[in-house]
Amino acid sequence: MTDIKSLRLSELQKEIEELGEKRFRAKQIYSWLHVKLVDDFDEMTNLSREFRERLKKEYELISLVPVQVQTSGQDGTSKFLFRLSDGSMIESVLMKYHHGNTVCISSQVGCRMGCRFCASTLGGLERGLTPSEMLDQIYQIQKWSKERVHNVVVMGTGEPLDNYDALLRFLELLTCEEGLHISQRNVTVSTCGIVPRIRQLADEKLQITLALSLHASSQEKRRKLMPVANQYELSEVIDACRYYFEKTKRRISFEYSLVGGINDRLEDARELAALLQSLNCHVNLIPVNPIKERDYVSSGRQTVLNFKNELEKSGIVATIRREMGRDIDGACGQLRKSYMDTKKER
Ligand code: SAH
Repeated sequence: MTDIKSLRLSELQKEIEELGEKRFRAKQIYSWLHVKLVDDFDEMTNLSREFRERLKKEYELISLVPVQVQTSGQDGTSKFLFRLSDGSMIESVLMKYHHGNTVCISSQVGCRMGCRFCASTLGGLERGLTPSEMLDQIYQIQKWSKERVHNVVVMGTGEPLDNYDALLRFLELLTCEEGLHISQRNVTVSTCGIVPRIRQLADEKLQITLALSLHASSQEKRRKLMPVANQYELSEVIDACRYYFEKTKRRISFEYSLVGGINDRLEDARELAALLQSLNCHVNLIPVNPIKERDYVSSGRQTVLNFKNELEKSGIVATIRREMGRDIDGACGQLRKSYMDTKKER
């Protein structure tokens, strides 16, 4: 059955006409799906019962089931565990910032990139998410919070550029005028650095922000933390980022997780500053969130501040990521992992 929530309006119009119905019906359905955010064809009350029955036979309506919601007592961040129709579990996060509600979504079930400090990759990749499954994380959270979602970051479990076609369609549906209509400028896609895909994304000339997970200032150090570095040299990654900026004029956001004693020395900061010197960029420093499967430790607060100062001395704009939801398994992949672990133990 066709996944109706993953169809573009133009595709839906064609399909509905082929079913022998009037073209304007497609727009009504699209609005039920992507603006009113219904979970059932029977909620589409301006369609006849007969037509709704027909739709049920022809199409699958993907909607995620929230299995668990945890809200942080510290900062109001909420973490959601959703069940997909095949029984897989994914997680998403709602962060309430003063500049609006931000939802962090997953792009895959599991991940095959193998970054050493990340919990999402421990069980490998199960599959990529469909566009509808990416969208519905946002739709369900907007319905749950009863507040509009302003920003979307694709920084949850999975490597979005390893699920490229679905990601692109998702971005189109998310930002289109007839849908939720989130501005492209309010969307960030984070990648561990799949070079050919970064270049391909640049050629799409979207206005989204690219976040690049760097985490090291030299090829040698990066290889120790991120297996993807065995495939692409650091210099190639930086060149691809430069290309992305040239094509889109969007400033690149570099993510740098500080791991105690591994990449947090002043020398590392100086090397990083030299690497990024000629790029129009911004560095986001994130004290690593330790996971129990690895013995990495977070850098101390003073070390983080010193690292930031060192970057700023060289004219690199840097911010320290506010750590949100630490009390609720806030780090990438931790909630899903702990849920799966307790299920196994039972
Ligand atoms: N695969 C994409 C997006 C998902 S990860 C990427 O690599 O960018 C989102 C961000 O969280 C990445 O920068 C990732 O390196 C970082 N991250 C993962 N686990 C972390 C942890 N335990 N502590 C700090 N940052 C982590």
